[in-house]
Amino acid sequence: MLPLPPSSSSIPTCMRIHRTRHDRRIMREIRKFARLYDISVRFATGYQVRAPDGMLVDGFFDPPHKNKKGRLVIGGSRRERWYWISTVAHEFAHLLYWVFRGYQPGRSYFEQEFHAEILADRLLAHWGVHKTIRTAHRRNASTYLAWTLKTYSGKKRQIRNLHHAQLRLSM
Ligand SMILES: [Zn+2]
Repeated sequence: MLPLPPSSSSIPTCMRIHRTRHDRRIMREIRKFARLYDISVRFATGYQVRAPDGMLVDGFFDPPHKNKKGRLVIGGSRRERWYWISTVAHEFAHLLYWVFRGYQPGRSYFEQEFHAEILADRLLAHWGVHKTIRTAHRRNASTYLAWTLKTYSGKKRQIRNLHHAQLRLSM
């Protein structure tokens, strides 16, 4: 016989999979903000979503092209809350860079992801999420950045940047 699932009250909020009222407000605000820039927003239930380049990812931001609407797509609506909201913050960070700077800072993919993770961390603080979620995000971001570096390049300067990023994320 399978063990009974724990009652929802015994699961810490950050590990629950349902969205809180606060999350729904964040989702609403993101939709409203994105609409101003002709960007559609989709919160998908699948664990991962298919990016324009065909890759399976947690989420992606595709800015508007000539006559194509922009898209912000975030998967994992049924994942643990901390993972989901950290993905929301990361992809929204890409959108914010595009809106306010017109481009993503950083010359390499690693550097762009590094900037997105730092801004995502600030967004999580701004949204007032619980500190356990921020800690989980930072840990996950460090791992992700290390993976990005290994996968996409291996230059010395970028390794220094990784240490710099990890330091900033561990504060
Ligand atoms: Zn990213």
